[in-house]
Amino acid sequence: MKAGVLYAPHDLRVEDRPDPQFGDDDVLVEVTYNGLCGTDATEYGKGPMMVPLNAPHPGSGHQGPTILGHEFIGTVVDAGANVRHRIGERIACGAGVSCGECAWCRAGRTNLCAHYYTLGLSTHGGLAEYAAAPSSICVRIPDSVPDIDAALAQPLAVGMHSVDRARIQPGDTVVLLGVGAIGTFICSALRGHDGPVIAMDIDQGRLEVASTLGATGTALISPDATATDLRDLVPGGIQVVFETSGVFGSAERALSMVDMGGNVVLVGLNKSPQPLNLADVVLREVNIQTTVAHVCGSDIPAALDLLDRVHLSEILPAHPIALADVVSDGFEPLVSGSANGKIVVDPRRG
Ligand SMILES: [Zn+2]
Ligand SMILES: [Zn+2]
Repeated sequence: MKAGVLYAPHDLRVEDRPDPQFGDDDVLVEVTYNGLCGTDATEYGKGPMMVPLNAPHPGSGHQGPTILGHEFIGTVVDAGANVRHRIGERIACGAGVSCGECAWCRAGRTNLCAHYYTLGLSTHGGLAEYAAAPSSICVRIPDSVPDIDAALAQPLAVGMHSVDRARIQPGDTVVLLGVGAIGTFICSALRGHDGPVIAMDIDQGRLEVASTLGATGTALISPDATATDLRDLVPGGIQVVFETSGVFGSAERALSMVDMGGNVVLVGLNKSPQPLNLADVVLREVNIQTTVAHVCGSDIPAALDLLDRVHLSEILPAHPIALADVVSDGFEPLVSGSANGKIVVDPRRG
């Protein structure tokens, strides 16, 4: 089969690989679409951060060149003996593999599994004609959800999980500090919230997308806006802030702009240590939440359910490209920031 294999930063090769091996609990999937996201761009452009090119991954045991792709859907073409999925079924893969037995798995927090690993990051994934995956992390796609929408299930599940972590109350005013890639999925996951959802970003185009996705208000902000500037934009007060930008200093702004007793969800990542005014956080009883990945068993079905009601691909245009063009039309535009909409790879195109 043809596969996109990461060898080193800026060295991704589309090459022939043996079809994946699969075990009794796995499905073999013919990949319909594999979405690319910022995580892939980071691995390709600045990595490896997560891909175990140089040392074995403790969860997967895999080491070396790796087939990327953690956002994939496809059709089951073969299956192990213990698998409940049928041949021909369309599935969305959650990509995160958990053991089912550790304390975190038993508590339902499978995204924190002690042995967690991710297809397409810690071992081979879906950027290929075929992928093998544990059937336990694959969810049947409802017949009424088109492939191009279902291709958004995994990143939308990440947004769903962020919203779950936020403990939003009815009527709360929610601010999205940044509506780039993950921010748009959080905005989508907030559909149905019965209070204001205000998107703030430095890019007018992103704000327009956020409005279409259901944000009730938008604000174009300057990169050096202070917390006071931002709070003044919402005179009624802010109960929940999602900090999605990961920009240095933005966590501090989020913590300062939220109301007393409010919740801040840290979503964006910045590896540099940064100062926080924790005395202010404590004295105002601000809750800091964090979120990572998604809980496959609940968030992927919830994402597919939402995609059944809202055809997100019409709002977040997904651009299918051929696997052969994945470097020139996928990774390079993502790394340079010139990509528009969501890039999905269709390996059936060659
Ligand atoms: Zn992703
Ligand atoms: Zn576990």
